[in-house]
Amino acid sequence: MNKTQQQVYDVIIIGAGFAGICQARHLLLNLPNIKVAIIDPRNPERSIKDLKIGESTVEISSMFMCKELALHEYLLENHAPKYGLNYHWPKNQAQTKSVNDYYHMGFNRTPLIDSFHINRAKFEQDVLQMIQEMGATFHNGRVVDVELTPCDQLHTVTVKLDQASIELKTKHVIDAAGRRFIIGKKLNNVVLDSEEMTGINTGSAWLRVKNIDLNIFDNIYNKINGTASSYYSTKHFFGTGHWIWVLPIDTKQKEISIGLVHHKNSIAAKQINTLEKLKSFFKANHEIVYNLIESGQCIDFNYLPRLAHNSKQHLSQDNWYVIGDAAQMFDPLYSPGLVVTALGIECVTEVIRAKLAKEPEAEKKQDMYNKFMVATATSYSRLYQNHEKHLGHASVMSWRIYMENMFWFGNLVPMYIGKWFLDFHFINEHIKAIEFLAGPQNSFFSDLHQQFDQLVECDANLGIMDFARTDQLLWGYGPSKYFDNFLENSRLDPHQCNVLLCLKNTFFFLAVFYLKLRFKGFGIWGGFAPKTWIRVTQLLSYSFYIAIGEKIYRFKVRQLNHKTFIEKMRQEFKTYQYQPKLHPWN
Ligand SMILES: Cc1cc2nc3c(=O)[nH]c(=O)nc-3n(C[C@H](O)[C@H](O)[C@H](O)COP(=O)(O)OP(=O)(O)OC[C@H]3O[C@@H](n4cnc5c(N)ncnc54)[C@H](O)[C@@H]3O)c2cc1C
Repeated sequence: MNKTQQQVYDVIIIGAGFAGICQARHLLLNLPNIKVAIIDPRNPERSIKDLKIGESTVEISSMFMCKELALHEYLLENHAPKYGLNYHWPKNQAQTKSVNDYYHMGFNRTPLIDSFHINRAKFEQDVLQMIQEMGATFHNGRVVDVELTPCDQLHTVTVKLDQASIELKTKHVIDAAGRRFIIGKKLNNVVLDSEEMTGINTGSAWLRVKNIDLNIFDNIYNKINGTASSYYSTKHFFGTGHWIWVLPIDTKQKEISIGLVHHKNSIAAKQINTLEKLKSFFKANHEIVYNLIESGQCIDFNYLPRLAHNSKQHLSQDNWYVIGDAAQMFDPLYSPGLVVTALGIECVTEVIRAKLAKEPEAEKKQDMYNKFMVATATSYSRLYQNHEKHLGHASVMSWRIYMENMFWFGNLVPMYIGKWFLDFHFINEHIKAIEFLAGPQNSFFSDLHQQFDQLVECDANLGIMDFARTDQLLWGYGPSKYFDNFLENSRLDPHQCNVLLCLKNTFFFLAVFYLKLRFKGFGIWGGFAPKTWIRVTQLLSYSFYIAIGEKIYRFKVRQLNHKTFIEKMRQEFKTYQYQPKLHPWN
């Protein structure tokens, strides 16, 4: 094979899937003169074969695409909006024809932060084109080897093109090649053993259907309060050892994505790994989903036998990085795939920026952001622990979803908006909090999961805890409450997004949630047991500890508040005078 060329880049990205193209665009937008190469064997004209999975976005992944990648208008004009999230459990397993046969929680409305259902083939084709126009070099070939070198020496990437092979050199190499785990396998960096990932042992089957009967959606939700189109919401259906997604991915052909995640101890792969078997499963257990499929034409079918994996390291001091599916994936419930990808991309860009600028803190950033990514990915793995036992139990699972949403809106979303995850001090505190909440032993999550196990075993009914409502804890609280009003008040001033205020309140309401769970689930003796009050005291102490940090933070930024965009406008406005007379125009 001829080695015909040798080129040197600042950054080489292996893989032009979602993670690779987004990383390239983020680098090009933030470091205008950077020399980026991106490599992928697939034809840049993406076809039906490229109907990849990972279509639903949530607040963080949407904000990343809209603001960080400046793609808001593009998304509005080319992809389907996401108007809410709905969860369903059958009232009687033998009757699942209509939504009235299901218990339901969730909402249908335009969200505060725009979210989208993206058509991945279209997105990848369009953004690949955009980044080439911005100056990235696209090599349509396959990476066959990466020679990694220590510290700041140049790495070598060997690419097999159609007729030849080329060798590229780079200071920074990013593995965004998904489940090929190019760096993961080379350095034994990838974790595939389910035992090392809290026992998650899942597979997934999915399909796309076009020209579906929209009346099925109208029949689903019109009677349930909603202020937006129900077709454009994400719907989830649950049962023992599995959950299902139904969501739109095309605005013109009425095309939807339908998929099932199954825990293999409950549902074996061989029971659902063909289209016919999957349809039979739906017909028997979720007839409404079966009818939806039968109302249109099936476009594809896919089965992935193993979903979960993780990486020991995400950012290395030797200038290699793993992002997207190459780094981690656990379970698509809550759509964390693109969220963790977005966080990883922003960390990598900031490290490369600091490295190229030869900033003294660059290596510390590499180390700290790696710790942040490892801790965040690992905490996500704990989010799915014991799912197999809980998914099908409507009452227990609704409590679990409620609690997990408290962290999403009360911690992760404000953390992202205020860019707190790039702050060293916050990262240290965040890692400590993760240990307390989601550590392997005696953590808050493991305690709750054990209690949920007990409640499922004794078939308890604690009522449905609807995460979309605000009338179940104290003072009109609901998990999606933004304490800081940062969406309204921190416009263009991210330092005003006070994540500590959100965390303080979240921990307080967690204590209330915990008390309610103990009394409802375990009766008066459970409520007054020492265990309950020890945990409540821990949560309130954490809330108090964060409250002190919050006051310190407020004190530190008090000067900055006078220099903000809003403050400047207010000052200018002091000289405002009404001018009723129009300027002559002809
Ligand atoms: C069933 C399921 C449902 C999911 N649902 C969601 C969801 O709703 N929301 C969400 O946020 N996430 C979801 N995810 C996760 C999401 O799909 C992934 O996070 C995302 O697709 C990862 O994109 P990626 O670019 O890292 O990988 P990929 O999309 O796999 O891209 C990898 C690219 O690398 C290229 N490549 C491979 N080998 C080489 C090589 N040797 N040289 C060069 N290039 C190479 C490939 O051609 C490909 O283009 C889901 C995942 C699964 C499995």
